[in-house]
Amino acid sequence: MGVLNQPPLISIVVPCFNEAAVIRETHRRLSELALRLDDVRFEFIYVDDGSHDETATLLHELSVSDQRVRGLRLSRNFGHQVATTAGVENAAGDAVVIIDADLQDPPETIEAMVARWREGYQVAYGQRSERAGETRVKLWTARTFYRWMNRLSRVQHPVDTGDFRLMDRAVVEALLRMPERDRFLRGMVSWVGFRQVAVPYRRAARYAGESKYPVAKMLRFASDAVFSFSLAPLRLAVWSGFFVMFLALLGIGYAVVIRVFFDPTNWERGWASIFVAILFMGGVQLISLGIIGEYVGRIYGEVKQRPLYFVRERFGFRDDVKDRSAEATTASQ
Ligand code: UDP
Ligand code: MG
Repeated sequence: MGVLNQPPLISIVVPCFNEAAVIRETHRRLSELALRLDDVRFEFIYVDDGSHDETATLLHELSVSDQRVRGLRLSRNFGHQVATTAGVENAAGDAVVIIDADLQDPPETIEAMVARWREGYQVAYGQRSERAGETRVKLWTARTFYRWMNRLSRVQHPVDTGDFRLMDRAVVEALLRMPERDRFLRGMVSWVGFRQVAVPYRRAARYAGESKYPVAKMLRFASDAVFSFSLAPLRLAVWSGFFVMFLALLGIGYAVVIRVFFDPTNWERGWASIFVAILFMGGVQLISLGIIGEYVGRIYGEVKQRPLYFVRERFGFRDDVKDRSAEATTASQ
């Protein structure tokens, strides 16, 4: 059979950070899926995001026993979004699927995604109809956050959606042309457009190990989402400026009237109002400065033009696979 007649290749990208406890099971489940979907070819790209457990060793073993396994070992921990990007950049598939290593996203859902893809959709994103094993706080913060996010930015982001999704090659190419440093992938994929469709699934509890997203990382992630996709915070600063100016005008009118008509002698009584006004103004100015600073900091990050990540080791990739990260690989090691 000629190359042109080969069944389509689907790349499964799995970011892994200290996932030694789940890796084998994850690959077993993914292989099961591949068995069922026998009219497509698969490659599995595991990105080791600077783990300090056995993850890398296990990935090596997998790549020896399974020809479809590729491993990408980043030079340190770069975070979930960058690790995922690295995987997508090195994927050769006609479609690329992003999935977490911890089996919270059930691999079986990929079957439905592939079906949608074959119908002509270019993005099939998983939409959680249920989430097991998450704290109430996490559920509430996630829901509130996405509601506000949609209010703030022009691109509508589907609720209850993570990075678990299938993307057609066309969408992947679009995504690869977005070199920004503060990456909020799910928002970026919404932003590029194309034909997108939701695939409902039940989010399971983590198979083993613990969440690699402590509160601080989550906050950082949330602020990436807001500041990378919206200028609303700047507008908020402008509006609070107007609001304060309005209050000030009222205050000025009041002060003048009192001074001229009612209480010309007892002026020094006004210290409290001055005190309050100064504090209030100071607060508003600091907040506005902080907001501007947030954007300036991000601009600084962008203009430095540093590579997003470095690759320490690359294994299991075959010759027929496009080698996009060749430079990064030779630059390190
Ligand atoms: N992850 C990563 N780098 C990190 C943090 C997480 O590659 O710095 C991976 C992790 O191994 C998992 C996925 O990102 O495959 C999602 O992380 P996790 O399950 O800990 O997040 P949660 O589901 O709790 O939001
Ligand atoms: Mg998880």
